[in-house]
Amino acid sequence: MKSDIEIAQETNELPINEIAAEVDLKKEDLEPYGYDKAKISWSAINRIRQNKHLGKLILVTSISPTPAGEGKSTITIGLGDAIKNQLHKNTMIALREPSMGPVFGLKGGATGGGMAQIIPMEDINLHFTGDMHALTAAIDTLAALVDNYIYQDNSLDIDPDRILLKRGLDVNDRALRKITVGEGSKFNGVEHQSSFAITVANELMAILCLANDIDDLKARIGDMLVGYTKDDQPVYVKQLGFQGAIAALLSNALKPNLVQTLEHTPALVHGGPFANIAHGANSVIATNLAMHLSDYVLTEAGFGSDLGGQKFMDFVSKHLDKKPDAAVVVATVRALKYQVLGSTDHLDEENLDALKEGFKNLERHMNNMRSYNVPVMVLINHFDTDTESELNLLKELVEEQGIKAEVVNYHDDGSKGGVKAAEEVVALADSGKADLTPTYDDDDDVKTKIKKVATKIYHATGVEYSEKAKKQIQALRDLGKDKLPVIIAKTQYSFSDDKKKLGAPTDFNLHVKGVSLKNGARFIVVTTGHVLDMPGLPKHPAALDIDVDNNGKIGGLF
Ligand code: ADP
Repeated sequence: MKSDIEIAQETNELPINEIAAEVDLKKEDLEPYGYDKAKISWSAINRIRQNKHLGKLILVTSISPTPAGEGKSTITIGLGDAIKNQLHKNTMIALREPSMGPVFGLKGGATGGGMAQIIPMEDINLHFTGDMHALTAAIDTLAALVDNYIYQDNSLDIDPDRILLKRGLDVNDRALRKITVGEGSKFNGVEHQSSFAITVANELMAILCLANDIDDLKARIGDMLVGYTKDDQPVYVKQLGFQGAIAALLSNALKPNLVQTLEHTPALVHGGPFANIAHGANSVIATNLAMHLSDYVLTEAGFGSDLGGQKFMDFVSKHLDKKPDAAVVVATVRALKYQVLGSTDHLDEENLDALKEGFKNLERHMNNMRSYNVPVMVLINHFDTDTESELNLLKELVEEQGIKAEVVNYHDDGSKGGVKAAEEVVALADSGKADLTPTYDDDDDVKTKIKKVATKIYHATGVEYSEKAKKQIQALRDLGKDKLPVIIAKTQYSFSDDKKKLGAPTDFNLHVKGVSLKNGARFIVVTTGHVLDMPGLPKHPAALDIDVDNNGKIGGLF
């Protein structure tokens, strides 16, 4: 089979206004970026919001990620194409924008695969419509404005050693995790420690994906906690007056981007916060627009159901005009065998015992999603190496628990690779059975919220706090901010905070290392284990396979 990028480059894209017309968007509603991409204008966004129609929302999540690959984006896109082109329903897809750091690092592209992709894949994976660059500029402008404030007069007496804002870059660069700025002459600013986080891990990315409109964006930026004064008082951006300029830098990036799948289903691709240190879903504006414009909306949450799935149900849903109507959990035979074997070496060989044991990982993910009181279905993403006996066994194991499962092959066959599955997902979404019950109550304090997620979703025995975390929780109480939602940053590879504990571990405690207030995003990030906000590059970065020819044709993205 051809590579993802070869398939994408051979597809005849339709002009973006034809894609827009599928959901009754007019030419004047679009701000085109060339032939095949467009932003939706503010006047269109504001008009569409008044529309009372709200389509069904289907959340796609998955088992714990492994190097064997799960294909969550591939399934989201393929399922969207199947609902639109095989069942002939008015459908839209709402996905996150890829981050360039991981594209050149470990992950490669993030636009689906095989016959289930969004296009133009090179553009979407690289500079796209410039949203990531705008965010990076906004993040670094804010950091520079704060440093300049301290250099110029610092009338609030901000302590340069207690600035919480980080600089940003959409590059995996471990050397920037800790830096010193302002070195040398006193004209170079006030010397202090600083650090970079990858753009998608910055609070501004979370804010962009949660804000309803420009006023909300500005208010949230104003609420960001900059740091503390020398006499321990918190300082917020609005006290320094930078929120207008930073919102101006982001106002264009706040508009969703319209593209298409290989089969011409309209897709809004907008915003991309990580699913560990942030909430892991595309922008609220895009998902809401898609629900107002179409009858079925497919969206995806990052990593497994314990990370993006949990955050979507407990946090993101509260920002949406409508809560999810159904959830799909993506699993593969290979990844479940990996849960037991811990290596990719023998995944091509039939191994029913490993699959049966590895199923415990899927069992926990699907039951977790079901615990939210939203109808759940499992889609098994077929790989060529899966055997009939393995696929049958997996389907049986799922169905024994009263959850439907279908094997799909959207990757090889496009929308034809899972028509029955699409019918069943639509029936679930139409069943009217969803009645989302979150894991915790809004009114629970931070420790109760963490405990509920840790015990109900991760299946931990309890939670242990470092001394630093205890002090930080006290500081949150002092600020009156200890009842905000929690965003737990945990390894994506395990239900526990130890990435080596595969499968469905029990008898473990969750270790909370620290908590930090993201006051503009209006959540508390809880760090556990060894989660980094600036990834490094692997020994063989994906960048080594990426190239461009003299005609500007890019190769090697996957
Ligand atoms: P995720 O969203 O889980 O990270 P993606 O959908 O981005 O995964 O897929 C990752 C890679 O796996 C892509 O290159 C895609 O082509 C490949 N892939 C996905 N599903 C299949 C499949 N059924 N067979 C072969 N390769 C697949």
